[in-house]
Amino acid sequence: MLLRLPTSVSEAQTYLTDGALPIGGATLVWATWQRDGFPEQAMSLRDLPEANVLGRETLGAAVVLNRIDDRVPEVLHRAAASVGTGAVRRAATVGGNLVGSTLRCLLPAALVLDARATVLEADGVHETDLAELLAKNHLLLSLRWRRPLASAYRKLPGDPGGPPPLVVAAAVHAEGGGRSRLRVAVRDGYEVIGESTVLDAGTGVGEVLATLGRTDLGALPAAAREAVRGQVTGLLGG
Ligand SMILES: Cc1cc2nc3c(=O)[nH]c(=O)nc-3n(C[C@H](O)[C@H](O)[C@H](O)COP(=O)(O)OP(=O)(O)OC[C@H]3O[C@@H](n4cnc5c(N)ncnc54)[C@H](O)[C@@H]3O)c2cc1C
Repeated sequence: MLLRLPTSVSEAQTYLTDGALPIGGATLVWATWQRDGFPEQAMSLRDLPEANVLGRETLGAAVVLNRIDDRVPEVLHRAAASVGTGAVRRAATVGGNLVGSTLRCLLPAALVLDARATVLEADGVHETDLAELLAKNHLLLSLRWRRPLASAYRKLPGDPGGPPPLVVAAAVHAEGGGRSRLRVAVRDGYEVIGESTVLDAGTGVGEVLATLGRTDLGALPAAAREAVRGQVTGLLGG
């Protein structure tokens, strides 16, 4: 297997067109490749500056999870810290987690930040939303979002060998005119549901919870609804 290490976007574009498969820390693909055979070419973005950004409003796809710190919003910082074991977090990347894994602990956090994805395709760099990123398995270069006023992340304890633990992420963004928007995303099993509601000055927590209860979040099992209630109440200071 030839490992490509592009240092510019145009170089990465050439390797992508040549059929190189993206690779992060190989925490998922290694076992599969050992079993089924290695691809001819793989491409790691670890030397590509555009995929290594880490700031208040941006995160590169090649950033290793244990490098994600409090420069990013709390919801994303905590999500990264909750993934697997220390050994996994030292190797696994943002791109591998979001695009390549089934658990995707970073996804609810990225959803409530309303993150946009910068992706590389054969014809160049594009910006898209998370739904399209996942549906089309694009090569992710980085995420960017608008800084929230506040955010929170909670992963409930899970049973070893059991279903994925419940995750609740929430964030509030200013919208102008004295309004803000609360976004909530829940991972229940392998499914992630995201909803949002506008907060006017003086909107009470009870009203917010009632509004969210009329969305798909209201159809979640009781324990998940209780976790959403706790998260929203904590975030809005109710
Ligand atoms: C012991 C253990 C515990 C774990 N626990 C959790 C957990 O609690 N929560 C959780 O969310 N996950 C968990 N995982 C899964 C973990 O998230 C993934 O192993 C990891 O995120 C994959 O990242 P990677 O960089 O190693 O990807 P790789 O193994 O390198 O790649 C995985 C896939 O992602 C694709 N890929 C890589 N980079 C990109 C990119 N930039 N753009 C598009 N596609 C790309 C690859 O082509 C491949 O298909 C666990 C894994 C292990 C082994």
